[in-house]
Amino acid sequence: MAAAKGGCMCGAVRYECTADPLFMGNCHCRDCQRASGGAYNPAIGVPRSAVKVTGDVKYYESKADSGNMSKRAFCENCGSRLFSIPPFAPDLIVLSAGSLDDPSIFKPAMDIYTSSAQPWDNLNASLPKFPKMPPTG
Ligand SMILES: [Zn+2]
Ligand SMILES: [Zn+2]
Repeated sequence: MAAAKGGCMCGAVRYECTADPLFMGNCHCRDCQRASGGAYNPAIGVPRSAVKVTGDVKYYESKADSGNMSKRAFCENCGSRLFSIPPFAPDLIVLSAGSLDDPSIFKPAMDIYTSSAQPWDNLNASLPKFPKMPPTG
């Protein structure tokens, strides 16, 4: 993947990522549903060191499943969701695919937190499903 660029609706915040994604997946947890107002968060995990952010980003911290704090970034002017910093890996940034300039580069490989997936959400049957986080290691 070439440099992935994105930003918020009003243009005050822009980001650029120069590294290839480490994972892509749809998170159906209730926090992602509340934060996005939609059925799931289309998540692209990239190394934090490869992401450059310009503009004023506001963070909202909430307690994740693990008990650790998860940080979600949004534009303080227009409220667009941009990315989050997951508690399990602080050196990661998880971009929300809808904020990309070209969201079609998003190729989800799994559905996670399907235990809270909504009945009105048409999940792709060909993707692996995990009720919570996928097992690690
Ligand atoms: Zn904005
Ligand atoms: Zn989630």
